[in-house]
Amino acid sequence: MGEELHKCPACGSGAVAEIYRLDAIPVQSCILLDSAEEARDFPRRPLLLKFCDDCGFVFNAVFELEQVDYASTTEESQHFSGTFNRFAKELASEVASLYDLKGKKTLEIGCGKGEFLQELAEQTGTLGLGVDPGFIPERLPGADGHEIRFQREYFDPETIAETPDFVVCRHTLEHIPAVGQFMDDIATAIDGRTDVGIFFETPDVRRVLDEGAFWDIYYEHCSYFTLGSHARLFRRAGMDVTKLYLAYDDQYIIQYAEPSTGRPPLPEEDDLDAVRALAKSFPAKVAEIRAYWTDFVRSRHAEGKRVAIWGGGSKGVSFLTTNGLGEEVAQVIDINPFKQGRYLPGTGHLVSGPDSLKETPPDTVIVMNPIYLNEIGADLAKMGLTPELVAV
Ligand SMILES: [Zn+2]
Repeated sequence: MGEELHKCPACGSGAVAEIYRLDAIPVQSCILLDSAEEARDFPRRPLLLKFCDDCGFVFNAVFELEQVDYASTTEESQHFSGTFNRFAKELASEVASLYDLKGKKTLEIGCGKGEFLQELAEQTGTLGLGVDPGFIPERLPGADGHEIRFQREYFDPETIAETPDFVVCRHTLEHIPAVGQFMDDIATAIDGRTDVGIFFETPDVRRVLDEGAFWDIYYEHCSYFTLGSHARLFRRAGMDVTKLYLAYDDQYIIQYAEPSTGRPPLPEEDDLDAVRALAKSFPAKVAEIRAYWTDFVRSRHAEGKRVAIWGGGSKGVSFLTTNGLGEEVAQVIDINPFKQGRYLPGTGHLVSGPDSLKETPPDTVIVMNPIYLNEIGADLAKMGLTPELVAV
């Protein structure tokens, strides 16, 4: 176990208290393995979530960054879903409506496979620099036609040659343990300029706390934010939050910020009392929800029903491994062809394409992200399948 943190990495406060503990979960939930055996033997570590009473930040106090290898084959890309692609296009167009980026320099920290930067370049004419240790050039067709460059490495302000006009960071902050230091690094990259726009998209933990959504808690996510704690992190780093809201079925925090000129806080930032109450009730809530889903799956399996999970990503891995579900789930489905034919860490389930359901029709399909429920229902209907269809 990593050395336990007793202070909040966001604000430095010692007023932190445990709200959730798991003895052993796979250290990577986006990775896929080539054999079931390798997948079942995948390394596990404990998780210990703490809540900061002073800023509302939630973090894994025993996280070990060196356990997570982002340079290896991670499959975080959600860009095979039409719903997610539409969302990314809409976001790029919102950015385009707020900032004139034509000919300007955009830095995307944690650009993944580079799809968003490419979309932003198409819509705004921005010059792009993407930084990500997991970037795979051959997976981005058409990038050569745009002014986009990539650095296959972790973000380090020392290696950013030119000061950016705009900084994008999507689904990355939740992977950073030392979030206070990370903000300092962004400030270094901005180099004292005040005319820089910053756009962040980060999963929201308020709903997770409220609903006991244990499948949204996994090892790679060491840092968890609400609208308020996200904004407070930026304000402590000398930035004003200029726009703040929840998107994507209220799952993601969307936040725009700029170097501070003393603008007052937005009403959305004022959530600390509400989040304190949610953190207090979370241990009982998450125990109840874990018991509900464990019983849901086990009771159907005991009746001889085939239960399938739709979503071979981190939510699926967490859903299975948090509650020790194995053979009770017959099948794991994912539309991402790069996942199919490979195995989930922890349980060793094989990931198959939707077509495999025709050969072995499921009685129940549990969808790992409710926003895809309609899309998946339509896919099943096209195959002539009408199983019990539920979402977590
Ligand atoms: Zn704090």
